[in-house]
Amino acid sequence: MKALAKLVAATCLTYAAVLGLLVSSGGTASRVLPGVTPNVILFQMDGHRISKTNELLYWAGGDATPCPSSKSPARMPEWCPTLSTWTCLPTRCTHFESLNATVGPGKTMTKPQTAQMLTGQPPEVTGVIRNNGGGGRIPSGMSIFAQLRAAFGDEINLAISGSSRFLLRPLKQDRRDGVLDREDMLRRKNDRRPLYSGNNSLAAAVALIDKFKVDEKPFFFVIHMKNADWAAHKTGGGNVAYDEAIVLGWEHVGKTLDALSAAGLAENTLVFTSADHGFNPTGAQHQLRDGAEITDIPISASGIGLNPAAVNPTILDVTPTILAAMGVDLSLLDPSLPGQSLLAP
Ligand SMILES: [Zn+2]
Repeated sequence: MKALAKLVAATCLTYAAVLGLLVSSGGTASRVLPGVTPNVILFQMDGHRISKTNELLYWAGGDATPCPSSKSPARMPEWCPTLSTWTCLPTRCTHFESLNATVGPGKTMTKPQTAQMLTGQPPEVTGVIRNNGGGGRIPSGMSIFAQLRAAFGDEINLAISGSSRFLLRPLKQDRRDGVLDREDMLRRKNDRRPLYSGNNSLAAAVALIDKFKVDEKPFFFVIHMKNADWAAHKTGGGNVAYDEAIVLGWEHVGKTLDALSAAGLAENTLVFTSADHGFNPTGAQHQLRDGAEITDIPISASGIGLNPAAVNPTILDVTPTILAAMGVDLSLLDPSLPGQSLLAP
């Protein structure tokens, strides 16, 4: 089923209005279409099943109703001991749209599905096929980071925050190619840096906003939000801890929007979210007992319209959508992308 849902929100200055006010921040002319280059933040909401997300958040038209988690006694998962309130995202002045989408081909595993999210290419092209095992390095020039570096040269800031195993190791070639600097690849388990994942993903997002706000270049960064997947592997996809972790993830998206506002960047920064897989509604795996994979995931965006008529949106559409939003000419990409831009026409 295809549905376009809109989070209930106060009225804001729309991104379309901003488009007419800002001046292009530049880029390599031949690869970047004329117009404003927005900043983009992408949250990889690990394990967020769209049907559950839709149930928990204040989605769509009509009167807002509290999400179930906000009404239930706050049973805090042990990994988020500091959260004291359950406010949902629409309390903020923002406008989120979400398409019901599915994952890409292959296993519903974090590494190969995130690789698809960050390249727009299926596993047989990226070579990232499973979580375990050697290899699995995205080829040179294929990631969204490499595409943006090719389009904008040094006139863009790029970063990613997540686990070494699932997110950063597949991007090793980008580091070797100078597409990503080591200090812009924030690790979940790291010697000296904070533990950037789960709760600390928000700290990573805020740190990157603070770092990048000081210059005039557009930025793109990816944040891996791990809480829901952890919660569901520990307690099952039917446990309230999974629900609360999903709400927590969106709360962190909301706080990131707050940080953008505080930095004066809210009006020219687009925030996208997607997920690598759903979760068994009762069990502790991504699959049902019969092995069927849970493939329904959200592709959401604030600040820009998504196309409600998009046909069968999948995780392979995330990269072309973001590249198009940043003005990259998709027709010039090599290899070409099998997915589609989900931006409203
Ligand atoms: Zn998992």
